[in-house]
Amino acid sequence: MNDSLERLKKLQQRIQTACFAAGRQPQEVSLLAVSKRQPPEKIRVFNELGLSAFGENQLQEALEKQSGLSDLDLQWHFIGTVQSNKTRALAENFDWVQSVDRQKTLVRLSAQRPQHLGPLNVCLQVNIDREPQKAGASPEDILKLAETAAKLDNISLRGLMALPRMTDIEAEQHISFRNVKILFEDLKSAGHDVDTLSMGMSADLEVAISEGSTMVRIGTDLLGKRKI
Ligand SMILES: *Cc1c(COP(=O)(O)O)cnc(C)c1O
Repeated sequence: MNDSLERLKKLQQRIQTACFAAGRQPQEVSLLAVSKRQPPEKIRVFNELGLSAFGENQLQEALEKQSGLSDLDLQWHFIGTVQSNKTRALAENFDWVQSVDRQKTLVRLSAQRPQHLGPLNVCLQVNIDREPQKAGASPEDILKLAETAAKLDNISLRGLMALPRMTDIEAEQHISFRNVKILFEDLKSAGHDVDTLSMGMSADLEVAISEGSTMVRIGTDLLGKRKI
């Protein structure tokens, strides 16, 4: 518990420092705790410390944790690859899906979202550096996907999610995040009421915040090393 509190405080300090350096308010950046490959007890601990949004990237693993933690009021974000045969379970069990990159997924999620849960929050994942091995839509396909999302009754389009190319060169990190931000502004200019720019992880949250991130997704630096 003490160790967890320590990590949380340190992380909040980093976020705050990055916000001030960028002339932004810390409240503009929310924290998604990425709990993939972490035991459910850790989610319980961080929920007690005040966090309620958790991100998972494997459906089965997430469903098991959800059932063991059903006494808590948590907000679940899916951040992994979406397989077509898993969309129903995602629509039924998650509050957000941040990794949508195809029309078909949007249509299925909307059709399969139970009415009583209200619209599913969706971010479009963009493959900003056009890496062949990586998930995400091409930047030029994002506007069309957003148009589709906007027409669907049970989808609430919230914004974009990106995982830029891994690099230690900070100037390159800036370019990638800046390109995501430009696309985000394009969505707004096209009339989409989006409020979420999900970018920045343990290693690059400062750069992401300086380029306009509104949600950082933190695993390692908050919950510690993951099980392999
Ligand atoms: C694992 C993961 C993260 C968290 O990464 P850390 O480096 O552990 O902070 C963030 N986003 C996505 C999509 C992930 O899969």
